[in-house]
Amino acid sequence: MENCLFCKIATGAIPSNIVYQDENVVAFVDINPQAPKHILLIPRQHIASIADLTLDNGPILAQLFTTAQKLAHEMSIDESGYRFVSNVGPDAGQSVFHFHFHLLGGRKFGWPPG
Ligand code: AMP
Ligand code: ZN
Repeated sequence: MENCLFCKIATGAIPSNIVYQDENVVAFVDINPQAPKHILLIPRQHIASIADLTLDNGPILAQLFTTAQKLAHEMSIDESGYRFVSNVGPDAGQSVFHFHFHLLGGRKFGWPPG
């Protein structure tokens, strides 16, 4: 997808601090961290947001979740806890329109979110 920031990060055209990658998934450090640990997980495939997912995307979703689980363990936040969220559209504050999950940890989070 031309002019998509996260597609460019996935190909390496734009540098990022990648913490994990395989043929389907890339995980990298958020440039503006909102917690001591803040990783973004994306599919290499361009999908704009949760709103565009179909049942065919089931396997990539499972991979994103299990990658988050593994990274949470590696970052030692699996026992303290973490938040795994995806913003969709204006009210949620989505700013990059390549589907991604935020994996946040290392501090306490409020509920409901502000
Ligand atoms: P969202 O607002 O939910 O769409 O999340 C987009 C996230 O991408 C934000 O947390 C940004 O800080 C992050 N971000 C934007 N540009 C970059 C970049 N070049 N490298 C890493 N993270 C980025
Ligand atoms: Zn993209």
